[in-house]
Amino acid sequence: MTEPSSDDGRTFRRETERVVNEIAQGLRTLDAGVRWFSDLTPTCQRMVLQEVAGYGMQAHMTAADGRAGVARSGVKPTANPSVMICMDPPRYGFAGLPSTEHVKAFRVLVSVFAVADSRRRERHCKGACGHAWHNLPTATEHP
Ligand SMILES: [Zn+2]
Repeated sequence: MTEPSSDDGRTFRRETERVVNEIAQGLRTLDAGVRWFSDLTPTCQRMVLQEVAGYGMQAHMTAADGRAGVARSGVKPTANPSVMICMDPPRYGFAGLPSTEHVKAFRVLVSVFAVADSRRRERHCKGACGHAWHNLPTATEHP
């Protein structure tokens, strides 16, 4: 796999957005998302981790969301990414973790984002908002 050009980068960010939001909205399992993530190069994995950390910030992820998300991520609370996300305020330097920790970081980040984003959807969006990522087509393919 070669490094993405800027066009590929845009496509890749859209794909990341779709995968992560499908997991957050229960349209795709976390394990299926991890399989997608595991097939990426370490460079692409870092891009995804940065991207998802950004979604988390937009969704106003808190330390309490961190604890709730870690509990359902399948990652031990003592693992580096779990500790980082539970700090108050959370630390977001996941792309700086060694590549051996990328999958754990992905599990934790997506799980915590799901908690924060569910709250946002329930309180503010109510099925009628202009967030493109909250209005995903329902008939997508799930490989
Ligand atoms: Zn929304």
